Amino acid sequence: MPDEKIRMVDLTSQHRRLRGEMDAALQTVVDSGRYINGEEVDLFAAHLAAYLDTPHVIPCANGTDALQIALMRLNLRRGDEVIVPAFTYASAVEAAILLGLTPVAADVDSRTFNLSPAAVGEALSERTRAIIAVHLFGQCCDMQPILALAAERNIAVIEDNAQSLGAEYIFPTGQRQKAGTIGHIGTLSFFPTKILGGCGDGGALIASDDALADALRMTTIHGQSAKYHHQLIGCNSRLDTLQAALLDVKLRHIDAFISARREAAAFYDEALKETDGLLLPYRHLASTHVYHQYTIQVPNGKRDALQAWLRAADIPSAVYYPLAIDQQPAFAPYIRTAGNLSVARRLTQCALSLPLHTEMTGSQLHRITQRLASFFR
Ligand SMILES: *Cc1c(COP(=O)(O)O)cnc(C)c1O
Repeated sequence: MPDEKIRMVDLTSQHRRLRGEMDAALQTVVDSGRYINGEEVDLFAAHLAAYLDTPHVIPCANGTDALQIALMRLNLRRGDEVIVPAFTYASAVEAAILLGLTPVAADVDSRTFNLSPAAVGEALSERTRAIIAVHLFGQCCDMQPILALAAERNIAVIEDNAQSLGAEYIFPTGQRQKAGTIGHIGTLSFFPTKILGGCGDGGALIASDDALADALRMTTIHGQSAKYHHQLIGCNSRLDTLQAALLDVKLRHIDAFISARREAAAFYDEALKETDGLLLPYRHLASTHVYHQYTIQVPNGKRDALQAWLRAADIPSAVYYPLAIDQQPAFAPYIRTAGNLSVARRLTQCALSLPLHTEMTGSQLHRITQRLASFFR
């Protein structure tokens, strides 16, 4: 008895639930005529800053721009090195290359998929000026050792927090801090499928230093200190008022979104814990998990066959990411690799993300886990 179609992400069902609030927000903006830099943009930024317990959130057009803007304000020079994880989405690497910087690919941790502090240590050189710590799939990088390496050498730490909004890093002292607020600059994406997703593109920067926050804000508006006074080389990167209004509505529900994700992940954990032949997502003790993805590891070359097995039952799954960044033809000529990146290579072969979103039903989860287990029997 097949029930509703299973999707990797189901935004239309989520938005149907929030329709009243979203319609009202849209109507207010349409009636106001303030489609660029309307008051909703500042309001949303203030609400998000409060949620993150950080002084400055600076909206921009998307998460890729946020990374580029962050790198633009670090006073880097052509050829300076930026350490990035070898297993990640392209944005950080692309932004670095566009600015004439050299991305240095460091390997990731085989259990968390996140940048390995030991690999960062090995990737350091005389020219290292920044580390981009990507909080992948909903969990924080182990920040404490990364911050320590950076502090010794006066290196900036950027957190690419496109995937882990709401996750908390737990310092060895027990102190908790929201992902994205820990390094010098944090970046966010509000791409529709992210933890807090708009109905289009959006992004933001996070900074706790007042002067840096001012410079980042100026950068998003052509480097202007006042209208027609260009203090810095900037760009044009704004969050639409409409998106800000919609995101402000959805921000009110973020705790419920994250709880729903955690419930779905707990169902997977329980239903799959006896299944031999796969590794379930590992929880790092130093981070909470918001499950942007529920990513299993399927070793022994069986990942693609499992994906086909699921697809034959109309169950989607996704391979994030099929290539390490140094394997991308566009990036390879510009990248320095630190070590053999064997973990990243292996993960491109064995990582598989299962459907996970805020609207999953018990019967959908049951269908997925039953089908999955049957593959290994
Ligand atoms: C989505 C994503 C980005 C880019 O965000 P956009 O808003 O699509 O530009 C950057 N880094 C990571 C890790 C992402 O997942």
